[in-house]
Amino acid sequence: MASSGDIPSNEDAYNDYIERMRETEYPMLKDSIYLDHAGTTLYSKTLMERFHEDMMASLYGNPHSASPSSQKSTQAIEDARLRLLRFFNADPDHFDLIFTANATAAIKLVGDAFREQENGFSYIYHIDCHTSVVGVRELAYDHICLDADDAVEKWINCLDVEGGAERSMLFAYAAQSNMDGQRLPLDWCHRVRTSNSRAYTLLDAAAYASTSPLDLGNADAAPDFTALSLYKMFGFPDLGVLIVKKDAAHVFERRRYFGGGTVDMVVCLKEQWHAPKSGPLHERLEDGTLPIHSILALKPAVQTHEELFGTLERVSRHTANLASELCERLWSLKHRNGRPVCATYKYEKSSYDDRSTQGPIVAFNLRNGKGDWVSNAEVEKLASIKNIHLRTGGVCNPGGVATALKLAPWEMKENFSVGHRCGSENDILNGKPTGVIRVSLGAMSTRTDVDRFLSFIGEFFVDRSQRLESSMTPFIDRGEQCFHVESLTVYPIKSCGGWRIPHDWQWEIREEGLAWDREWCIVHQGTGKALSQKQYPRMALVRPCLDFEAGTLRVHFTGSSGQISVPLSKNPAMYGSFVQAGHTSVCGDPLRTFMYASAAVTDFFTKAIGVPCTLARFDPASTSSRHSKLHLLPHSQSQTRGTSRPILLSNESPILTISRSSLNRLNEQIKANGGKAAHPSVFRANIVLAESQMLSPGQEQPWAEDEWHSMRIGGESGTSFDILGGCRRCQMVCVDQENAEKNSEPFVTLAKTRRFDGRVLFGVHTALAKTGGKRSTITVGDVVDTLRQQEVIE
Ligand SMILES: *Cc1c(COP(=O)(O)O)cnc(C)c1O
Repeated sequence: MASSGDIPSNEDAYNDYIERMRETEYPMLKDSIYLDHAGTTLYSKTLMERFHEDMMASLYGNPHSASPSSQKSTQAIEDARLRLLRFFNADPDHFDLIFTANATAAIKLVGDAFREQENGFSYIYHIDCHTSVVGVRELAYDHICLDADDAVEKWINCLDVEGGAERSMLFAYAAQSNMDGQRLPLDWCHRVRTSNSRAYTLLDAAAYASTSPLDLGNADAAPDFTALSLYKMFGFPDLGVLIVKKDAAHVFERRRYFGGGTVDMVVCLKEQWHAPKSGPLHERLEDGTLPIHSILALKPAVQTHEELFGTLERVSRHTANLASELCERLWSLKHRNGRPVCATYKYEKSSYDDRSTQGPIVAFNLRNGKGDWVSNAEVEKLASIKNIHLRTGGVCNPGGVATALKLAPWEMKENFSVGHRCGSENDILNGKPTGVIRVSLGAMSTRTDVDRFLSFIGEFFVDRSQRLESSMTPFIDRGEQCFHVESLTVYPIKSCGGWRIPHDWQWEIREEGLAWDREWCIVHQGTGKALSQKQYPRMALVRPCLDFEAGTLRVHFTGSSGQISVPLSKNPAMYGSFVQAGHTSVCGDPLRTFMYASAAVTDFFTKAIGVPCTLARFDPASTSSRHSKLHLLPHSQSQTRGTSRPILLSNESPILTISRSSLNRLNEQIKANGGKAAHPSVFRANIVLAESQMLSPGQEQPWAEDEWHSMRIGGESGTSFDILGGCRRCQMVCVDQENAEKNSEPFVTLAKTRRFDGRVLFGVHTALAKTGGKRSTITVGDVVDTLRQQEVIE
C-alpha cells in the first residue's frame, strides 16, 4: 500500500494513482461502476484486514465493568471518540461526541431533547433537507420550511437578539444536499446563534463530510449540533455520530428517558428516584451497550482513509473535478435532431467549479429524441444490466426533489392517490417525472467511471441515427395463413422452470390461461411473498413436471438428485395434514394460498433456492380475485384491450405469446453486435408461434404480432384469443433458463431496438376471447389466423 507521502498532488497523477490503487484496495469495483457514494461509500481491503487483525489479536468485553477485557474496550472507545473529534478539528474542551446508530438517530436525539423544552420549540428547516431532518417538525410546537437561501437570509436578518421568544428555536439544514449536491453556507450557524439567544442550529453534515473536510476548529462559528454518518465517509463501520457543542449541552438536561449506562443510581420500590450520570454528556446520552466493535473499527478506518486518499481536502478537489466534467458532458449531450438529452437539476447560484457551493453529486432526468421524459425505472434496469450502481426516485429528499421537478403538493398527493410510490414502475405521471437520477462520486471514483457512465447514456439514450429498426414497419400482408403453434409451455410453479406440453396433446385453455399454468408458487416463509426469478435466478433450475398418471406434480432441482411430489388435486383435504392456509402476496396483490408445511417440502425448496421458503398452492376459492393490470398499459386503444382478465399467479395477463420470427430477427441483431443469441425459453412464453420453415429469413414477418388485434388457433372451428398488447420486459430475460446464469443479452439489444415510450417490449399478452362456455383447446401444430388492428377499427 502507498504511504501518504506518495500521494500525488497533481490532479492527472492523482486520478491515475486512484485508478491503480483501487484495483487492489477496492476489488469489488472490478466489474462495476459505483455511482452511489451519497448512499453509502465503499470500504477498502486494508481497512477490513486491519480490523480483522485487531479483532483476532485482542479480547474485548462489554464496557462498564472492571475486567481487563472490559477496561480494554472502555479505553478503545474513549480513544476512538477523541480520534474522531480531532478528525473534525473539534477541541474536546468545547465539544462532545455521541455515538449513534446512524445520522438519523443523531438528528432524532436532538429533536427529542427539544421536545422536552419548556413550551416546546419552534422548528425552522431548509427545504433541501433529508427526510430524517424534515421529520423533526412533528415534534415541534410549530415549524416553518424555508424554501430558498434568500428566505433563510431574510429569516436570520429578522431575528432579534433578545428575541422575547417564548420558546427555543431550532434551525436545521444540510451542509450539502443529498439530492443535487448543493452546499449551503456554513456561516449560517454562527449568524443564527448570535442573532438570538434562544436559537440553536443543527447541521446535517452526513452528505457533506464524505467528500469535504468538516472543520469545527472555530468553536464560536460551529453548529450547536452536527450529525454525521460514518459509513458515508469510510465505508465502514455503520455508525452515526452527533457532535454537540458543550455550550448547548444543557438542552439535554430535560431528557426524561434513561437507559443502562446513563444513570448513576436508580431507586424503584416504594420510591421512584434516579440520578443521571454526572460526567460528560455522552455518558448521559448513550443508552445501553455501545456498538463496541463498530467503534473499534474507527481507528483503522481513519488511518486507512488518510493513507489511501490523503486529506479530505484532496478528495474534495478530485471529486469536484470529476463532477464538473460529468455535468458538463451530460449537459452538452444532444440527440441527432439537436434536442438535449439531459435535464440537470442544480441550484441556480451554485457552480461545479466552486466547491463552497457545490458537491460531487449530479441530479438529472433524461428525455428521448421526441422530447418526452424517459422513465427512471427503465434507466435503472439498463444500468443494472451494465453493472452501473446509481440511485433514482425521491432519494429521501422530498423538498429538494419537489422543487427540482416543480411538483406542487396537490400533484404529489394526486400521484400518491393513484398509487405512485417511490420505486414504482410507472414513474412518469401526467407527463412529468416523479423522481430524479442521482449520480454521486466519492473518493475512489475516477475518470474511467465518468467515461463509462457517459458511454452508457450515449449507447442507450441518445438518438444518433434512425433506429436500428422500427417495429412499426408496415405489415406485409401475404393474404395467406403463415403462422402455426410451434410449442406450448406451462409454468406450473410461478417463476420456476417450464413444462413442455407434449406435441399431440389437446391442451385446455381457460379464461385465466393455459390449464395448470401458475397454479403454485414459492413463498418466503418469513414474509409470505411469492419469490421471483428476478431476485432468485436459481428458481429457473427448479423443474416441475405434471404427472397425470400418478396424479402428482413432481419437482426436481437441476444439480441435485432428490425430488418431491405433491398431489395435483385442488381439494385441500387431499393435501394431507401438512398444509396450512396462508396469506401470500404476488406482485403486491394479497392472495390466499395453501402452504405446504411438511419438512420434506420446505427443506427441498429452501435448499434449492437458498432462502427459507416453501411451496404454496393457489386457493381455488379465491379464483378471479386477481385481475390482469393491463388496463394500466398505454397501448390499450380498443375496448377489448381495456378489459381486465382474471389471472392466477402470473404477473400481468393470462397467456404470453411470442413469435419465432421476431426472435430470429432479434438474434440476428444480437449476433451482429457480437452477442450470444437468446434461447426462446428466456421469454417464458406459453405459446410460441412460428412461420413455415420453408421461408428464408427475408420472407419472415418479424414483429407482425405488434399489429394483431386477435388470433384464432386451430382453423375454422378453433379457439379465438384477444391480443392485449405488448409485454414489457426487464432484466429477467437475461437469466439463462438452462443454468440460471445471468447475461446482458437479450435485454441490451431489446432496449436498443424495441423500446416504445420507455417500455421495452417483446411478445404479446393474450387472453381467451369470450367463448360462451365452450371448452377450448389448442394443440402444437395448429394453424393460426390473425386479424390486425386496422382491420377491426376500419
Ligand atoms: C444519508 C443522509 C442522511 C441519513 O443518514 P443515515 O445514516 O441513513 O441515518 C441524512 N442526511 C443526509 C444529508 C444524508 O445524506
